[in-house]
Amino acid sequence: MNTPTDLMGEVLEARKKGIAVGHFNICSIDMFHAVADTAKSLSLPVVIGVSEGERDYVGINEIVSLVKMRRANGERIYLNADHTYSISRVKEAIDAGYDSVIYDAAKEPLEKNIADTKVCVEYARSKNSPVLIEGEVGYIGSSSKILHEVPDNVAKEEFMTKREDAIRYVEETGVHMLAPAVGNLHGMLASGHNPELNIKKVEEIAGAVQAPLVLHGGSGTSDVDFRNAIKAGISLVHVSTELRLAYRTALHAYLNEHPEEVAPYRYLQPAKDAVVKVVENRLKLFAGL
Ligand SMILES: [Zn+2]
Repeated sequence: MNTPTDLMGEVLEARKKGIAVGHFNICSIDMFHAVADTAKSLSLPVVIGVSEGERDYVGINEIVSLVKMRRANGERIYLNADHTYSISRVKEAIDAGYDSVIYDAAKEPLEKNIADTKVCVEYARSKNSPVLIEGEVGYIGSSSKILHEVPDNVAKEEFMTKREDAIRYVEETGVHMLAPAVGNLHGMLASGHNPELNIKKVEEIAGAVQAPLVLHGGSGTSDVDFRNAIKAGISLVHVSTELRLAYRTALHAYLNEHPEEVAPYRYLQPAKDAVVKVVENRLKLFAGL
């Protein structure tokens, strides 16, 4: 069997099999290795996600090198410039060699979203870059944090992606992947249980556009919802807040118990282990293992 060697190949392969590829956000080298080692041990592809803030912190070019080093060793690991809010930063990520870039103008009116996304797609083409451009239609909030209630402007039927908008957006922009709003939201409710996904909506959008669908805001989603959404046509799933929470909780507990410990590689180890646990659990679920 031929194993895909690029991100679109991995995503299409997953779609064919009725499973999904996992995308995990990192902002430090220990989180990076936690995600990469876990995917490697399961022989599964994985996408490393870095938002604008995360890539500024870890190094815009340094993270590209880390991913390339692992890929040179045969690992199926890819790099995504997550939520990018300006065209100049999209260009920066394309030039740096990211495998995919998300241009996020979901808050803008559809016309402007389409016009600006088109500029990103055309820039990638003009550079002959193999980069994939992902776009968003429908707003799902913008922060990976703990929420105490569902914000007013997300996760309700009226804010979800409309079939005709999805069709028009994909056709007019030429994006390679689409992130719809299907009841998902960024961040995670303090209860650990986010609102249910609208599986019918996933099916409807998946049936309307050729571009593979990406589910954002995976944290706090139930296993049943994940399985059903993947079956209905989601091929790539983003998880961020769950990792942040696991990391922080484990680090906090260790420091409380070891107030004298000053070696970062010792006190960061439990945080890294906690990330491994979440990633392993999610990757297995997405891959139907
Ligand atoms: Zn997202």
